[in-house]
Amino acid sequence: MSVQPFGVDASKCFIAGQWVTCATGHTLALTNPSTGEDLCRIARGTSEDIDHAVQSAQAALAGDWGRSTAVERGRVLYRAGQLVLENLDVLADLEARDVGKPLTQARADAVALARYLEFYAGAADKIHGSTIPYLDGYTVYTLRQPHGVTGHIVPWNYPMQIIGRSVGAALAMGNAAVLKPAEEACLTALAFAEIMQRAGLPAGALNVVPGLGAEAGAALSAHPGVHHISFTGSVKVGKQVQRSAAQNVVPVTLELGGKSPQLVFEDADLEAALPFLVNAGLQNAGQTCSASSRILVQRPIYDQVVAQMSDRYRALKVGPALSDRDIGPLISNRQKNIVESYVQKGQDLQIAAAADLPPDLPVGGSYATPTLFAGVSADHILAQEEIFGPVQVVIPFEDEAEALTIANNTPYGLVTSVWTAQGARQMRLAKSLNAGQVFLNNYGAGGGVELPFGGTGLSGHGREKGFEALYGFSALKTVAARHG
Ligand code: NAD
Repeated sequence: MSVQPFGVDASKCFIAGQWVTCATGHTLALTNPSTGEDLCRIARGTSEDIDHAVQSAQAALAGDWGRSTAVERGRVLYRAGQLVLENLDVLADLEARDVGKPLTQARADAVALARYLEFYAGAADKIHGSTIPYLDGYTVYTLRQPHGVTGHIVPWNYPMQIIGRSVGAALAMGNAAVLKPAEEACLTALAFAEIMQRAGLPAGALNVVPGLGAEAGAALSAHPGVHHISFTGSVKVGKQVQRSAAQNVVPVTLELGGKSPQLVFEDADLEAALPFLVNAGLQNAGQTCSASSRILVQRPIYDQVVAQMSDRYRALKVGPALSDRDIGPLISNRQKNIVESYVQKGQDLQIAAAADLPPDLPVGGSYATPTLFAGVSADHILAQEEIFGPVQVVIPFEDEAEALTIANNTPYGLVTSVWTAQGARQMRLAKSLNAGQVFLNNYGAGGGVELPFGGTGLSGHGREKGFEALYGFSALKTVAARHG
């Protein structure tokens, strides 16, 4: 049975408010990672479709969308948020089948999409310029204006959340968007286009062109008609996108990977910390940019933490997305092979615990064994490279200085958390840790649509989420009037 997100033919592109066949007429198979079976065919968009989409976005900016007021844009986003809330189960089902994530996690992503739309609906008319005291005889003020056409290249791991935070903010500021979802998972991107249309978004303000990264993605990042690019994905492709954008001298937001640590001191409230130590690493089978894949533990409680984390690993239930267990499959067999090759590289280490894969798993599914490594040195490849799978390492440390050195000793800097009762230590580490977000005695703060998010180093640059995203998706103009 072929999937039809919101009644839409999944093999089409959404351009200029129409569902159209891509220029070549070619399609790609979309696979269900829980079973290995095909879900449906999706469009294999190319540079011709991207060009068409950019032109349609330009036409929207020259028309009603370009003249829309902030309050009107807010209302469209709010209506879209309501439609998402009315269709949480439908969206969760699509995301679960497409990405392989357990239904409860997929539903949480749909709720987050609604929250992004609500947040940016409310924020749209609250972003404004300022007046600047200046020379006698002048009045100076600033205007925050849309960039124009924004390109959004999205990965497969959290399509709904990433579309919400990136496209939601861009539309709130009055940009017209061209979205290139991932070839591995794009059903909710198509559903999103239909929802925005039903919410009253004018034709061309949002265009969706599915296709391969090297074709549609590369064409979008190199298109001279695009004025801002938001890319979420791997470091390798992020560098390519930044190089392409440099040719057109346009700003880029890069949300790349991470090797995010949690620092657990001997005075930590372990009962509170334990669920976060494991879940923050294994959510979405570890395929999360902000996954906490390194657990740094102070020596006196090291054995206890490893033992308690191991108990949790052994209790994990792995299964198909719709069976809604703790952990689903990885996105593809390719990703599974990558993760398994990393586990092989850890054969010199102590495997503290591994979850059991149940015998009833569909044979074609891309299931990996959640694995916890203990006694890992900070420079081991498993402690340095992003694995993007259900694998965590536990690293011992002696004191605060050593914990800080280990935490900062990767090329990434996305998220960090510190578990300690000492307020002064919390403040010291929050300042010195190399990360875009630091959580004290928690991890992730429940998702935090309102909280600016982004990285340092190889984790990328620019900030999405919260009000900060609205500054990124707009350009500041200074107006100086000389009136005597
Ligand atoms: P990827 O970089 O291969 O693909 C991401 C997107 O880029 C997809 O839409 C893909 O089609 C497109 N793409 C691929 N090649 C392209 C090219 N040459 N030009 C333009 N676009 C191209 O990444 P992935 O395998 O889909 O996702 C996994 C990686 O993404 C991990 O490294 C992870 O850390 C990172 N990620 C980061 C965040 C974040 O917010 N920081 C979120 C999710 C994933």
